[in-house]
Formats: sequence, C-alpha cells, structure tokens
Amino acid sequence: MSMKNTMPNLLNSLKTSHKLFFVGLIFIVIALGSLLFLVSQKSTSEPLKVSDNSHIETKEVISKKETSEVCLEQVFESHVTFNDNNEETGVPSEDTQKINHVNEEISESDLDGEIEGDVKDKAHILADKIICIDPGHQEVANFEQELIAPSSDQYKIKCSGGTQGIITGVPEYELNLQVALLLRSELENNGATVVLTREEAAVNISNIERAEIANNNESHIFVRLHADGSSNAAVNGISILVPSNKFIHDEQLLIDSNRAANCILERLTDVTGAKNNGIIERGDISGFNWSNVPVVLVEMGFMTNNDEDQLLNTPEYQEKIAVGIISGLEDYFKNVEE
Ligand SMILES: [Zn+2]
Repeated sequence: MSMKNTMPNLLNSLKTSHKLFFVGLIFIVIALGSLLFLVSQKSTSEPLKVSDNSHIETKEVISKKETSEVCLEQVFESHVTFNDNNEETGVPSEDTQKINHVNEEISESDLDGEIEGDVKDKAHILADKIICIDPGHQEVANFEQELIAPSSDQYKIKCSGGTQGIITGVPEYELNLQVALLLRSELENNGATVVLTREEAAVNISNIERAEIANNNESHIFVRLHADGSSNAAVNGISILVPSNKFIHDEQLLIDSNRAANCILERLTDVTGAKNNGIIERGDISGFNWSNVPVVLVEMGFMTNNDEDQLLNTPEYQEKIAVGIISGLEDYFKNVEE
C-alpha cells in the first residue's frame, strides 16, 4: 500500500468521527448550560444584593458573609474605616479593647477566622490621616511682629517664650517637644503620617509659619502642644483652645476644631485624671487664624503648679497625655467620617 491511498481514507474517517464528537459535545454543553442557568436563577432569587451596598464603598468588604457584615456594621455603628494596615497598635486604647471584645464574640458565634483578622484591620482609623503637631515655642523667643490674621491689621509677636516648670525648671518649649516626639512615634505606630513643625529647640519659626506647615502638608488636623502658667500656683488642669469666628469664617473648620477639642479633652482628662478646665475659643491666636485646617491647642497642664509640673515631666504622665490625645483623635475621625 502506498502512502498516497491511505492518507485520504484516514482523513475521511477522522472527519466523520470528529463530526459525531462535536455533535455530542454541543449536546453536553447545552445540557450543562441549562442546568447552570436553573441553579443560578434559584440562588439569585434570594434577597441578597451585595453590589447595592454603596455605603460599604469606602470600606473593604469584610467577607462574603452578608450576615456577619451587617452584624459588624451594627457593632461599629459605621465608625470604623477599613484599610490594609495590619500593624499592631502600640496604644491600648479603649477602641482596640472594644474591637478585641467584638472579635471574641465573633469567634464564639462560630464565624471563620478570616473575619477576625479583617476586624483588626479596621481599627486603624488614623492610617490615612496626616496630622501636623506643633510643639509650642522655641529656645529663643522672636519678638518681631506678624499679622494676627490674614484679614487683620493687628500685629503680634512671632513666637513668645512660654512658661517654665516651677519645681523642675524645665522650659515649656522642651516639654512640648518631648510630648510631640512621643506623640509622633505613637501616631506613626497607628499608621498616621505625622508632620512636626519643629524637631529641636534651636529653631526660629513664627506662629504663621507653623500654621503654614500644617496647611502646606494638607494636614487633616493641626494639633498644637503647650503647657500653661499662672501667677497662682494653685491653678491646675487641662484646657483646649480653639479658634473663634472673629477672623475665621470657614464654618466647617470651626465646627471640626470644636469637635476635635471635645474628643481630645474628654479622653485626656479621663486618662490623666487632671482637672477639666474646658474648651476656650480664641480669636487672637495667629497660629489659628492662619490655619486652613481644623486646629486645636492643648494646654497639657500648669507648669506653675508643683504637682502638675512634676507629673508633666515624667515619662509615665507624658505617655498618658499621648494616649489621651490619640484616643481623642480616633474618636474625632470616627465622628467626622460618620
Ligand atoms: Zn505655651
């Protein structure tokens, strides 16, 4: 047999078997397709509409389990933002305790472990925040003048000297910087981006320039750290200053500054046990009037009071102040994002 005769026969027979094979295959595909269609019709008739949950847009979907998602939404009352940061927080805030508690409940209710990990991720409300911290004053005061507000014709000195510890002798600018550096490191542990107006004592930065640092870095909030002084050594406690509407006409900035002050003051006085001297509106502070972002000035305590001066200069109390401010900022951002 020559190759010339066998090849066409083989091809013919193959073609026939191919035809049969394809007809069979089409039947199978049609049958499977119908079956899948019927199954999918049945499951989509259930009242679950994942894609319609537009309120979840800013958050990453917790899991495919709609029921657990709703449960978590209720627990957190939509306060918690969701992000990828998976680092452990250095600060045992009340919120992380709350979340741990929720985790326990979830494990008990027999949901899969994937959710537990995701819940921890949600704790980092500060992760996408830019926080500008201004450690008040500097080693040498600057008595040159600058405009109190863009729309004002009044002038004020560029940077005053601050107070000093009655017992410790520590100057305010030094205490402010110590707390600012601590605060920066703990905020960064929570994933925040922190901008300091100064990192050392020997600088020359006016109050307008400090506000401009907050503005130029598009900070979500500008936190200014100070300590108080009084001629009356008995006076003690924490207060927070916020801008008044004297020169600032951005209503939202004023509202947000007040909200932040409320949140921080509540947490701070709670953690430190210090006296709550309230929130004070001020129209005469250049570092407020030049700020385009919400701003608060924390008066951490009186350095002219024996007890408070000594407390303020211990690492333990400074840690409490940092924890109080961070917890307050977490409350504030949760509030703002509600
Ligand atoms: Zn001060």
